[in-house]
Amino acid sequence: METYDVVVIGAGFAGLTAARDLRAAGSSVLVLEARERIGGSTWYQPDAFDGFGLEMGGTWIVPQQSHVFAEVRRYGISVTDSELPDRMTWSDHGEVLDTLLPVSPQEYGELEHALRALVAAGERIDPLRPLTEQDLADLDVPIRQWATEAGLGGNARELLISWFCGCANAHEDTASALDVIRWLAAMDNSLWGMVQASVLGYTFTHGTASLARAIAEDSGAEIRLSSPVEKVHAEDDGATISYRDGRVRAGRVLVTVPIGVLRDIDFTPRLPADKLAISAENHAGQGQKIWALARNVPEDLSGFGWGTDFDYVGAMGTIERGVVLVCFAPEHDRVDADDLADVQRAVREFAPHAEVVDAHTHPWVHDEYSKGTWATFRAGQFAKYELAVGRPEGRVHFAGSHTARRWRAFIDGAIESGKRAAAEILAEA
Ligand SMILES: Cc1cc2nc3c(=O)[nH]c(=O)nc-3n(C[C@H](O)[C@H](O)[C@H](O)COP(=O)(O)OP(=O)(O)OC[C@H]3O[C@@H](n4cnc5c(N)ncnc54)[C@H](O)[C@@H]3O)c2cc1C
Repeated sequence: METYDVVVIGAGFAGLTAARDLRAAGSSVLVLEARERIGGSTWYQPDAFDGFGLEMGGTWIVPQQSHVFAEVRRYGISVTDSELPDRMTWSDHGEVLDTLLPVSPQEYGELEHALRALVAAGERIDPLRPLTEQDLADLDVPIRQWATEAGLGGNARELLISWFCGCANAHEDTASALDVIRWLAAMDNSLWGMVQASVLGYTFTHGTASLARAIAEDSGAEIRLSSPVEKVHAEDDGATISYRDGRVRAGRVLVTVPIGVLRDIDFTPRLPADKLAISAENHAGQGQKIWALARNVPEDLSGFGWGTDFDYVGAMGTIERGVVLVCFAPEHDRVDADDLADVQRAVREFAPHAEVVDAHTHPWVHDEYSKGTWATFRAGQFAKYELAVGRPEGRVHFAGSHTARRWRAFIDGAIESGKRAAAEILAEA
């Protein structure tokens, strides 16, 4: 049987980064990837709208994400800063407000309170340390509950809840408020920075694929595509990995598949109860990212809404057929991307005269190799699983953005976790 020092399962940013670092240290590495492409939860489609490339998954990065920016610099990858809109658009249940701020002067006090409460919560968090070590259980509650307990009111409350759901790509009664407030802490408690980290940061000029390819090529590791791993049989002296078309042997295995997918691989010995439990529960990131091409919308639309189906609709460029809009919803069935009339209905909550002429999405929630979008924890999952997800089990190691510290659930977190796991494996050699 073919034998490698390490078999890496999954060719997303975590797996590719780990493979590169392991190879650089002299290990023989095979990467087994289920899909017919690398990149995992990032997927750049260069020709989607008449040659205007669309990111179906991970898109924005910010300079505070030191791991991804180090890779961008290392490979000379071109990135583009977002162009800021002239003003933000606020939609209150589909009614576009004619105001600069999301609330009227009568509610400025509520807005100030909401922002103070958010910053006060963010200042309690050290994003470099496990959150479960920091006495933050009161924040690890559903978003809506946190808003109530923090005493938020008026439109400021509605906007904050909806914005959090946008950051989480998850429902307000499911997602952990802590996992969103953590973004603020990771941005050194800059609220504007947190907005940038969500939808107004830098994008990859030639798509996320440009960085994934650079890391893969640099690694020199063999990557077998269309090779879903079915079984991992670990013993004292190594492991046998069975995938669709064969079996290989490895000294160590690095598993980088998304949380909800982990339980689809048959491990011997069985994975411990905590890893199986979080895989069964899955994370809260079960929303939508839909691209729409529309006429009669402002070319710099950047719209935040509450009581709307999309929580965010923003312009990403203009082509002859219309303005390219990126839209997010916190649940996977809010908007039917196959039905242009339904997409148009939802976009009109931000741009009342919009005429949607095209739409495109990838159903990450229904994709068997992701089972969700990005890995926002459900309320209460930090306490139970934060440390469990990345804990090695004998010769089997675990990485993936869901195991990262500062930028968990981001591209940066995936890279951080890949580096961490490679170092962990090398330390065992
Ligand atoms: C819609 C969307 C929008 C996002 N927006 C942003 C953003 O703007 N900025 C940002 O930083 N992040 C964003 N993210 C998150 C970011 O893309 C992810 O956190 C990151 O790419 C995850 O990388 P990973 O390597 O941990 O996991 P993945 O990229 O998911 O890689 C895991 C790999 O494992 C493979 N796999 C699964 N099962 C098996 C198996 N049985 N055998 C072999 N291979 C298997 C999968 O096919 C996949 O390639 C977004 C994600 C989505 C989906």
